[in-house]
Amino acid sequence: METAVDRTVLTIDELAVPSGLFIGGRWVNGSDFGTVGVFNPSDGSLLTEVADATPADGARAVGAASEALPAWAATAPRTRSEILRRCFELMTQRGEQLARLISLENGKAIHDARSEVAYAAEFFRWYAEEAVRLIGQISTAPSGANRIVVERQPIGVCALITPWNFPAAMATRKLAPALAAGCTAILKPATLTPLTSLVIADIMTQAGVPPGVVNVLTTSRTGEVMDVVLADPRVRKLSFTGSTEVGRHLLRRAADQVLSCSMELGGNAPFVVFEDADLDLAVDGAMVAKMRNGGQACTAANRIYVHRDVHDLFAERLTRRMSALRVGAAVDADTQLGPLVDEASVVKIEDLVRDAVGRGATVTVGGSRIDSPGHFYAPTVVTEVPSDARMVTEEIFGPVASIIPFDTDEEAIAAANSTEYGLAAYVFTEDLRRGLRVAGRIESGMVAVNRGLVSDPAAPFGGVKQSGLGREGAHEGMLEFTETKYIAVDW
Ligand code: NAP
Repeated sequence: METAVDRTVLTIDELAVPSGLFIGGRWVNGSDFGTVGVFNPSDGSLLTEVADATPADGARAVGAASEALPAWAATAPRTRSEILRRCFELMTQRGEQLARLISLENGKAIHDARSEVAYAAEFFRWYAEEAVRLIGQISTAPSGANRIVVERQPIGVCALITPWNFPAAMATRKLAPALAAGCTAILKPATLTPLTSLVIADIMTQAGVPPGVVNVLTTSRTGEVMDVVLADPRVRKLSFTGSTEVGRHLLRRAADQVLSCSMELGGNAPFVVFEDADLDLAVDGAMVAKMRNGGQACTAANRIYVHRDVHDLFAERLTRRMSALRVGAAVDADTQLGPLVDEASVVKIEDLVRDAVGRGATVTVGGSRIDSPGHFYAPTVVTEVPSDARMVTEEIFGPVASIIPFDTDEEAIAAANSTEYGLAAYVFTEDLRRGLRVAGRIESGMVAVNRGLVSDPAAPFGGVKQSGLGREGAHEGMLEFTETKYIAVDW
């Protein structure tokens, strides 16, 4: 049993993060002994360095995952389930260590990091439960000549690529279903936030995951290394979470080996507040949907459409809530909003706000970076944002709420759908019939009605249009890591 960690005194060294590549169950150096720096967004300081994988290391990881595959695929589902359950328990026990690490490398406020760890651990628990429920089917052919036996087999070696914004949850949302289905994996975390994945690999090893079943590559040569992995015919699956731009590129790469692809890509979520909404609930919902993770979530409310009758009241209340947020170093106990992940993110937010104001929008609070060695941007509300402003058409990915008035349901639905993205959407109304009708017509994979949060390991998470392909979480998330095998039997 791990002992509880002290919440206040741990430094990066005391967090005991492995720094090597994890290949074949061993921590190893990259073949050219290079390293990559990991920085603290709260003050810009160097936290530590991790191994920098080369393309040859990518090939080694594929070799290890491929060697481990037959035994893991043949391991009894109950055994796989129990190992995943131990991963859940150990991750929960080491929750404070992981939360602190996430805050240090990603910059999210510690209370957001704790929520992420709990959410991430749930994927292990959920897929421990699903591992023993990979059900096939049997039927008689319509001609009566034979039986149709259908079963689900593990798809094989999987390449898993994750973004920096949820370093723990995006890793476990892929690792847990892959392992539950009997697959082995090569995980490539974002270079900005590799440490959490390294600790997760350590936890999984402690929980009994055999050598080679999970391998982790950290690298500054992402394209080169992953090109080698994806071109290897032993790899059969790519599960990617990240930007739509990189997703498109990887789909082209995956075409060469005709890889099965699950793609969780960018979002541009509409958040629609009707005139009959409970405004307190809507403002609470907006604070969660906009500000969880400091706005750096693919599900973040990007365009807040508010009926003109309640627009001013909603804007005033949201402005008050945003101005009351305590901004500070991510690990400080009373911080509600930490920094953005890097300087480029701050510059992008500055550009988006400048663009909107240039087109006639009004800033009611915030509107500028905070002078600090860290990457801070003030909590910001912008109203009367015109539909051609860049913050309406692009992912904001920061603490900026953009409010746009509307007059009719049809206008709100058309505006919500006027994007190439279709990940999450939010609808607030006290009329459930209206809420469900609008939810049905919004082009997105997920709609929250009178809630600011959609994520749940037991629910199918994913997008339509250019927000992605496939689903993660729920039973569906495990099926993504299987192939359907049909056997025609004459008995
Ligand atoms: P990103 O730039 O697309 O990077 C995502 C991952 O892809 C990183 O690990 C990155 O590695 C890797 N990558 C970049 N170029 C690659 C290449 N040529 N070959 C192979 N891998 C490559 O996205 P991000 O900035 O980390 O994350 C933010 C984006 O993720 C947003 O668009 C957000 O909406 C999206 N997201 C979507 C979901 C969802 O479930 N739909 C969830 C979370 C985030 P490096 O770090 O080394 O560049």
